[in-house]
Amino acid sequence: MSPRKSYIATDVDFNRDGKQIATLRLPYSRNTSGWGIIPIPIAVIRNGSGPTVLLTAGNHGDEYEGQITLNNLVRTLEPRHINGRVIILPALNFPAAMAGRRVSPVDGVNLNRAFPGDPDGTPTQQIAHYVTTVLVPMADAIMDLHSGGYSMHMIPAAIIYRPNTAALLDRVIGAARAWGCPLGIVFDDLGERRTFDAICRDLGLLKLGTELAGAGTVSVEALAIAETGIWNLLKYFGVLVAEPPALRHPRPQPVPMRLTEITGPEAYVYATGSAIFEPNFALGDAAQAGQIAGWQNYLEEIDRDPVPLRFHKSGMVACSRGPGRVDPGDLVALVVNDIP
Ligand SMILES: [Zn+2]
Repeated sequence: MSPRKSYIATDVDFNRDGKQIATLRLPYSRNTSGWGIIPIPIAVIRNGSGPTVLLTAGNHGDEYEGQITLNNLVRTLEPRHINGRVIILPALNFPAAMAGRRVSPVDGVNLNRAFPGDPDGTPTQQIAHYVTTVLVPMADAIMDLHSGGYSMHMIPAAIIYRPNTAALLDRVIGAARAWGCPLGIVFDDLGERRTFDAICRDLGLLKLGTELAGAGTVSVEALAIAETGIWNLLKYFGVLVAEPPALRHPRPQPVPMRLTEITGPEAYVYATGSAIFEPNFALGDAAQAGQIAGWQNYLEEIDRDPVPLRFHKSGMVACSRGPGRVDPGDLVALVVNDIP
């Protein structure tokens, strides 16, 4: 039996030189549009036979810095800047991005838990399948830009999902250093197998991610890191062969990257009740195992002592809760440790 093909169609010719801006057409029959589609924007900029870099944002719709950065890149990157091919999708899960939500409003599916995807599945599962079977096989290097989203606030960081070999880990760390973010975090996402990272890991591909601020906001500091970093990275991969245009959010100086890792489940602190979380730290603080990370406050029992939540591990706090309200299982703090 031949592999099931994607229903997603496009007018883009991935092998043509020049700059093409088009859509991926995902058939989506719904009450309001029987023979309608979901139009996912895509840009392909190609000149010559150099490497292919795949850049995506809007995997999660409520993570904005990457979406803005790639939108700007589509308008400013021209074929004369490059030797190779750059494939750009600023709103990979288009319905989620248009709604400003982490998961898609059309099927309730989180794209980054839908890989490798299903060509006969829901729209989000079909996007994952198209990425896995059409876009990824064309790429020599991949970057998927995330931010903390509504629920989390992150120190801007390059995210390195631990590959299977030490040689590839060295290459991804090299790309992360070129990207120029002050913090790099190596992790395995608690063993996740359903992410964009995981399928790239299984294929042995160079894949870099980001976490850029969050809490549903747009950070100008993170925009500067993302915009400068994208052009740095295109140069590092040998694709950029001309001076970049004036940047909208330039950074004065590149900063050396502090390389850290998430060691395991003990790095995460979760809420245990429905309450207001009162933090006892700021992002970037040094935390000690056993120290109080914050307290859960109960408005419905104002004579009840707030319940402390403690760090399980010493390290630097790299992530905090976005909104003030928490429910059991919400992440309130995450610590990372320097890689010696
Ligand atoms: Zn994300």
